[in-house]
Parts: sequence; C-alpha cells; structure tokens
Amino acid sequence: MLELRPDCETCDNDLPNGGPDAFVCTFECTFCADCTSNTHQDICPNCGGNFVLRPTRQASLLEKFPPSTKRVLKKT
Ligand SMILES: [Zn+2]
Ligand SMILES: [Zn+2]
Repeated sequence: MLELRPDCETCDNDLPNGGPDAFVCTFECTFCADCTSNTHQDICPNCGGNFVLRPTRQASLLEKFPPSTKRVLKKT
C-alpha cells in the first residue's frame, strides 16, 4: 500500500490527496511537480528512481491508511 504523505519531501509544499501536483518515485518518495521537474530533473534524490503521478486515494482507504508524516528524505 502506497504511503500517502501530506507534503513535498523537498520544499514542504502541501500535496493533498487527489491534487494534480503530487508525484511519487518507484520507492514512494513524494515530491511536488515543481521539485520533480526543476530541482530534481525527474530523478529522485533519495533512490535515483523516476517519478509518476501519485494516484488518488479513495476516501474509504484514507480512513484506514491516513496520510503519513514520516519523512524519507535523507538528512545530511
Ligand atoms: Zn517541492
Ligand atoms: Zn525515491
């Protein structure tokens, strides 16, 4: 199950469920559209994977799997 994160790993932009600007990489790191194309040039800084549009989570699934606040971006 894809873990839904509430904001961009890089810039903390809000990325609500169903929003058009949320992208995930193959390892489910979440970024906004601006960071994926401009900051990271379509390569995930965590795992090197490519980005795809994040699928919209159904409301019934949101109740069972609420948005996570866990950060996956490696801190230096
Ligand atoms: Zn961002
Ligand atoms: Zn990644």
